[in-house]
Amino acid sequence: MADPDLRAALASGAGRLTVLAGPTAVGKGSVAAYVRQHHPDVWISVSATTRRPRPGEVDGVHYHFVDDATFDAMIDRGQLLEWAVVHKAARYGTPRGPVVDVLAAGRPALLEIDLQGARQVRRAMPEAFFVFLAPPSWDELVRRLVGRGTEDEAERERRLATAREELAAEPEFDVTIVNTEIPAAAEELVALMRGSGPDRRPTTPDL
Ligand code: 5GP
Repeated sequence: MADPDLRAALASGAGRLTVLAGPTAVGKGSVAAYVRQHHPDVWISVSATTRRPRPGEVDGVHYHFVDDATFDAMIDRGQLLEWAVVHKAARYGTPRGPVVDVLAAGRPALLEIDLQGARQVRRAMPEAFFVFLAPPSWDELVRRLVGRGTEDEAERERRLATAREELAAEPEFDVTIVNTEIPAAAEELVALMRGSGPDRRPTTPDL
């Protein structure tokens, strides 16, 4: 379903909504963190999630950590632009209000979300720009997933299974960035958001 608020906000300002998705552990979070640090003009959405904070994560900075009842209420009130259950474990969603405000103000906005969420945003706002972050290879993706060491064995297996499905979705996106080095991938992303990168978007099939 199209989202009139969001589309009006986008039309009224110069802001561009970019969605960054890709398989588990490809480094979406690291690329987003690099952009946050080096390109403060790019606004990055803070998602709501029902998962518990990891050590070092700060409420309101990395995520809005909420309980199930609060997440339910956000859905009921239409406050989430998209939401999904990720890794069959917890719910994650993009608060709608801040995205609408930022786009209306003409600022470029970035959502770092999973594939299910990217598909919902495409339905709500097909004119957004969809970027797929790919690993240099499957082996490298597995190495990164295991290397992170924050999940137990069963959780790793679940995430690998999800990653296999997610890799197959690459052709649905406007553009692919291969994340070999985080700074280079992040700079390529920002260049694309500013419209100064190679543009390969017109042939995108429907999701
Ligand atoms: P993590 O728990 O490792 O921080 O994130 C797990 C996954 O949730 C990542 O793939 C991340 O992209 C995704 N994610 C984070 N925020 C959102 C969101 O607001 N919506 C959706 N659909 N996925 C999200």
